[in-house]
Amino acid sequence: MPDTPLHVDDNDRYARLRLIPWWDQERLRRACVLVVGAGALGNEVLKNLALVGVGHLSVVDFDVVEAANLTRSVLFRARDRGRPKADVAAEAVRELNPDVTVTALPGNVLTSVGLGVFRDADVVIGCLDNREARLWVNRCCWKVSTPWIDGGIQELNGVVKVFTPPDSACYECGMTENDYRLINLRYSCPLLRQEDLAAGRVPTVPTIASLIGGLQTQEALKLIHGLPVPGGEAFVFNGAASQSYRTRFQRREDCLSHETYAAPIELPLQAGRHTAADLFAAVRPHLGDGDLQLSLDRDLVVSLACGRCDAVQRVLQPLSLVGLGRATCPQCGELSQPQIVHTVEPDHALAGERLASLGIPPYDIVRVANRDSEGVFLLAGDRREVLGSLDQP
Ligand SMILES: [Zn+2]
Ligand SMILES: [Zn+2]
Repeated sequence: MPDTPLHVDDNDRYARLRLIPWWDQERLRRACVLVVGAGALGNEVLKNLALVGVGHLSVVDFDVVEAANLTRSVLFRARDRGRPKADVAAEAVRELNPDVTVTALPGNVLTSVGLGVFRDADVVIGCLDNREARLWVNRCCWKVSTPWIDGGIQELNGVVKVFTPPDSACYECGMTENDYRLINLRYSCPLLRQEDLAAGRVPTVPTIASLIGGLQTQEALKLIHGLPVPGGEAFVFNGAASQSYRTRFQRREDCLSHETYAAPIELPLQAGRHTAADLFAAVRPHLGDGDLQLSLDRDLVVSLACGRCDAVQRVLQPLSLVGLGRATCPQCGELSQPQIVHTVEPDHALAGERLASLGIPPYDIVRVANRDSEGVFLLAGDRREVLGSLDQP
């Protein structure tokens, strides 16, 4: 029942919000927002979304709560130290507002979160501290045409960037040579990434997280309501001078992030249960006969081979999860070379592996091609496990 502004129900926690002429509480109740990162910014964003009653939240973070988080994280308590940030944040959100369904996705956004989670979101909010994860989130959002709002903070300064696929400039369009250099540094050495994932231990004053997290949430609320929000633009705030300006990114037509998928066909498959061979069997009715090929979105390290003593270790993990420690030959200590694959075919030795072993997370959207057409397929069998009670997108 829509409330009229003239009637205020004292038991309605949203009564004051409903007085805002354009506010639509029912729309917010139905909305899904994916928050990537549960650090200082993520805490502010989740708190705000919970307070206003955004109905379905998902939160991704691979880290655990530490004492140093307690000065900037309203959802964490000292007793939470050592527990996954995603779990703790989700519990705190439920306590803040029991109307909100929240799904904790503890894990790395690059390897653990299926594209279906991005597709089901009305808005993705990036609360990240490194370029690599932002670039990944950007590409995911483009593939499934979900708008995303990036936030960044340092000391007293902050920035909010809004991207609206498919037409606006994207995060990568705004990347500089220096941004690419800093990302590549993390992939230097023998293709394997440095173990040090502590990319962003950027010092910030908690107030800037409130400001930028507040602005990110506000832009998300506008997007959910269908209010005009220009995409491909940044709001930059200089906290020392209390000055701000807006800037617009130039869309680069040769940008590598602009791939957009068609609506995926849903298959009742699960990444942890079904193999690539099962997938090929399931897509044949849609793609017809011909030489099928599954494209892997994450470079898959099949094995590590030592050049000195010929020792081979089987790995089957995405490249970004394979650290230098793992690459050291257990027999002679020499650095091993990774054998990497990007595609799997039905006659490939890997076709019998479960999709999860090929680096495909649950509820992902996978691409399978035959000679003249390509299809995208959602592993819909994982929906319940990944998103819990949330049955509809
Ligand atoms: Zn771009
Ligand atoms: Zn060796």
